[in-house]
Amino acid sequence: MGLYDHYEPVPAIDCPGCGARLDYFQGKDGPCAFLRWRQGSMHPVGFEGDPPTPSELTDYRLPDAFVFDAWCDCGHSVELTGFCSDGTWASTALGDASTAGPAIAAHEVSDGWRQCTRCAEAWACPERIGLCVCPSCRALTQLGSRPGEA
Ligand SMILES: [Zn+2]
Ligand SMILES: [Zn+2]
Repeated sequence: MGLYDHYEPVPAIDCPGCGARLDYFQGKDGPCAFLRWRQGSMHPVGFEGDPPTPSELTDYRLPDAFVFDAWCDCGHSVELTGFCSDGTWASTALGDASTAGPAIAAHEVSDGWRQCTRCAEAWACPERIGLCVCPSCRALTQLGSRPGEA
């Protein structure tokens, strides 16, 4: 067994602090066998160093939800949650959504800002990140509705 796995969200995530592209994430919610997971692939796309076990990569799967993170050079830590659909990593949320329930709506209030429909908190979040954890009430929010819509 290793200590972590390596995760590659697709599309890639930019640091919310400085905008730098983040391409090296680590997480401990998967098999922790130094595997390389890429969003959209059911099985690991590779491994770091020597194969950790004799198993073929196709023996490994991800859990339905898993948290992973990265430290940016600017000092910002970025936590993400991946979700599987039919056993394949299908979507990624900004923030730790491991204890959040199903996604609720978020409104886009202005460029790069969204508002939680549960607690009315507004915060900055890159527009192309659809799923984001509300920093106030910790709800998983999904962008897609405009103010005035349900
Ligand atoms: Zn940064
Ligand atoms: Zn909220």
